[in-house]
Amino acid sequence: MLQIPHFINGQRTAGVAQRYSAVFNPALGRPQAEVALAEPQDVAAAVAAAHAAFPAWAALSPLKRSRILFRFKSILEERQRELAAVISSEHGKVESDAQGEVQRGLEVVEFACGIPQLLKGEYTEQVATGVDAWTMRQPLGVVAGITPFNFPAMVPMWMFPVALACGNTFILKPSERDPSAPLLIAEWLKEAGLPDGVFNVLQGDKLAVDGLLTHPDVAAVSFVGSTPIARYIYETGAAHGKRVQALGGAKNHMVVLPDADLDMTIEALMGAAYGSAGERCMAISVAVAVGDVADTLVARLAERTRQLRINAGTDPQAEMGPLVTRQHLDKVTGYIAQGVAEGATLVVDGRGLVVPGCEEGFFIGGTLFDHVTPEMTIYQEEIFGPVLAVVRVDSLDAAVRLINQHAYGNGTAIFTRNGGAAREFAHRIQVGMVGINVPIPVPMAFHSFGGWKASLFGDHHMHGPEGVRFYTRMKAITSRWPAGQVQSAEFAMPTLG
Ligand code: NAD
Repeated sequence: MLQIPHFINGQRTAGVAQRYSAVFNPALGRPQAEVALAEPQDVAAAVAAAHAAFPAWAALSPLKRSRILFRFKSILEERQRELAAVISSEHGKVESDAQGEVQRGLEVVEFACGIPQLLKGEYTEQVATGVDAWTMRQPLGVVAGITPFNFPAMVPMWMFPVALACGNTFILKPSERDPSAPLLIAEWLKEAGLPDGVFNVLQGDKLAVDGLLTHPDVAAVSFVGSTPIARYIYETGAAHGKRVQALGGAKNHMVVLPDADLDMTIEALMGAAYGSAGERCMAISVAVAVGDVADTLVARLAERTRQLRINAGTDPQAEMGPLVTRQHLDKVTGYIAQGVAEGATLVVDGRGLVVPGCEEGFFIGGTLFDHVTPEMTIYQEEIFGPVLAVVRVDSLDAAVRLINQHAYGNGTAIFTRNGGAAREFAHRIQVGMVGINVPIPVPMAFHSFGGWKASLFGDHHMHGPEGVRFYTRMKAITSRWPAGQVQSAEFAMPTLG
């Protein structure tokens, strides 16, 4: 069985290697490799490598750091398909989707290449007579990134390009379900000229995470994953004196007003609900049908859902691949049974799908529920599968109230031709990312990504300007040069002027 190691101090290493976890090919339903799970000694080795590499990396000029990222960017561009194939084989998503993921990550690298401009501080000449003041931003030290299975390349790339560009060294703890993409990334960073120890990959589970959260030499932690773990990471990291940003789960609603362009809306909903088998934190899992649009919307969605092309990610015609693991398939199937038991109308049932040639794969078909109500479990909880729930309301006001009462606040969208209604929605909605006739409003790399409420713990969104703020701390300098005149001691609070 192929063994997937760590990458520490510029080398692949099995480390202590006492425990391994199986890595599956989800389309075939079989293990294809096993990944080493870090022990405390491995955590110590990774932190020691990153800590030792920090002073020289931080001392390099931002321009030189950016040139390494430029080289990494061209390697990624050349090998985008290679990376996408590795992602697809462990995650299950179709290769075209995996290529899109790499592209969105690459855009953060492009943003980080502009770090000399982004790190410029503020300067005031003459804050007082003969006194100047300025601010600058300096790196934090060793920072850690803990990432989920659903975007094994893009989510790490929300973090490390900005962290490294700012002068930090980085330890990535990827998901143990699809750990190979980060290893390729580590090797390509080295090939681009990144010094050893600046970027490390620590494979593992809770033991590795807890080791990073409590290590005194880790200055900050970025996390993306489910809400219970995000809350735990935020609380534990903060209790150990670390700066933490922890992005959690989601339940994203799309509001459809009666005046929406229905052809555009149906296509948008299909991609947003079923793309990547619904395993996206920005997937739309609730369609809020306002007024009399509901019957037509459900009928057309049902027809389109039954036609979804589902196959292994290597099939270029496939629109949707399998789920990531058998446990996750069982969980999603369980939610569908619960939806039926709680009284929702199951319009399209994706359970029991068998894909020829992939009989053991973790497949499920697109599933559509109608008449879902707010007390139902399938409305309240994140299912993270290809299950779309339609909730019917009678007004925009009711749609806004519904969304604002939900625990999560990651993304949302409204489909309408009415500019006033869209503006009011964007203004009143308590959600971090809003799309107007855009179903998955993931901000571009030069803006920042983050939700509200139970979808984010901490103060900063990821990448873009917020990423630069998260990975640096500000220093304010006030300076006076003696001009021959000795100042007498000031015993009152100094005031300048
Ligand atoms: P997860 O929370 O199970 O795992 C995320 C990471 O935490 C992994 O690296 C995992 O090894 C680690 N982990 C798991 N259990 C842990 C524990 N008890 N203690 C310490 N660490 C632990 O999430 P997942 O299943 O890999 O990913 C899916 C989730 O991620 C969904 O909830 C999805 O909404 C969310 N997600 C959110 C965003 C966002 O931007 N908000 C983006 C992508 C995914």
